[in-house]
Amino acid sequence: MRRRDLLLSLPALLATPARASAKLPVVASFSILADITREVAGPAAAVRSLVPPDGDVHIYEPRPSDLLAIRGAALVVTNGLGLEGWLTRLLPASASKALVVVAAAAVTPRHMDEGLDPHAWQDPRNGILYVRAIADGFAAIAPDQAAAIRARANDYARRIAAMDAWIAQQMATVPPEQRRILTSHDAFFYFGARYGIEFIGVQGIDTESEPSAAAIAALVRQIRAEKVKAVFVENMANPALVRTVARESGVVLGPAVYSDALSPPGGPADSYLKMFRYNVTQFVKAMRG
Ligand SMILES: [Zn+2]
Repeated sequence: MRRRDLLLSLPALLATPARASAKLPVVASFSILADITREVAGPAAAVRSLVPPDGDVHIYEPRPSDLLAIRGAALVVTNGLGLEGWLTRLLPASASKALVVVAAAAVTPRHMDEGLDPHAWQDPRNGILYVRAIADGFAAIAPDQAAAIRARANDYARRIAAMDAWIAQQMATVPPEQRRILTSHDAFFYFGARYGIEFIGVQGIDTESEPSAAAIAALVRQIRAEKVKAVFVENMANPALVRTVARESGVVLGPAVYSDALSPPGGPADSYLKMFRYNVTQFVKAMRG
C-alpha cells in the first residue's frame, strides 16, 4: 500500500520542483516592503518577509531560518536609510549571492535628530519610487520577465498615485488648525509633510518602560499648549505611555494605526494600500472629532 502510494505520487513529485523553482526566491526585510514586492513580482516570485506582520523592524532579532532564506534568495529587498541595521550585519554572514535592492535609494530623505528618517514609505510618492527600484531589480535578475514586471509595476504605481490623490482629498476636509496628532513613534513625518499634518512624537521618553509622573505631566502640558486633537499608538509599539497621556489630557485616543508593519492577513491593514486607507480614515475621524 505504502509502495503503491509512492509510485502514484512519483510523477507529481517530479513535476512539482520544476514549477516551484520557476518562482524566484525573494526576501524582503519587513511586511510592508514584502507586500510592495509581491505586487510588482506577481506570479514571478515567492516573497518572504523577515519581520512578520505587527513586528518591529527597528529591533528585530533574526532567526537561523532568516539566514538560510537570505542565502537561497535571488533578490533581497531592503528599505535602506538606516532602518535595518540587523540586516546589514546579516547579509555578509549569509554568504548570499542575491542582488540587493535598496528600495528607498531614490528617495529624498528627511532628517531627524538621530540621523536619517527611514519611514519614507509613508509618503505614497516615495512608494512609487520603491516600486520602480524593485522592478529594476527584477529586470536585472530575470530579463526574460522584465516586460511583464514593468507592466505590473506601472499598474501598481497608478493605484498608489490614486491613493495619494484620495488621501489629499480626505485631508482637505480637516481645517488646517486641527491637523495635529500625537503618536507613540516618530513614523509619520513623511506622511505629515505630504499632507500638511503636524505629527508630534513623544521624543526623549522611553516608550518601552513605565513613564514617570513628571514625564506624563510634561506631555499633557505639551498637548494642551499645542492644541493636539488626537493621539494614536502604532500596532508594534508599547502603548502604555500614550494611553496614559490621552486619559490625563482628555484628547481623543484613536485605535492602533499602522506605521512600520502590516496587520496579519485578514486584518484592517494587510496591504500597503489598505494601510493608508485605514490610517487616513482613523486620522481624519479623530482630527475632525
Ligand atoms: Zn519606525
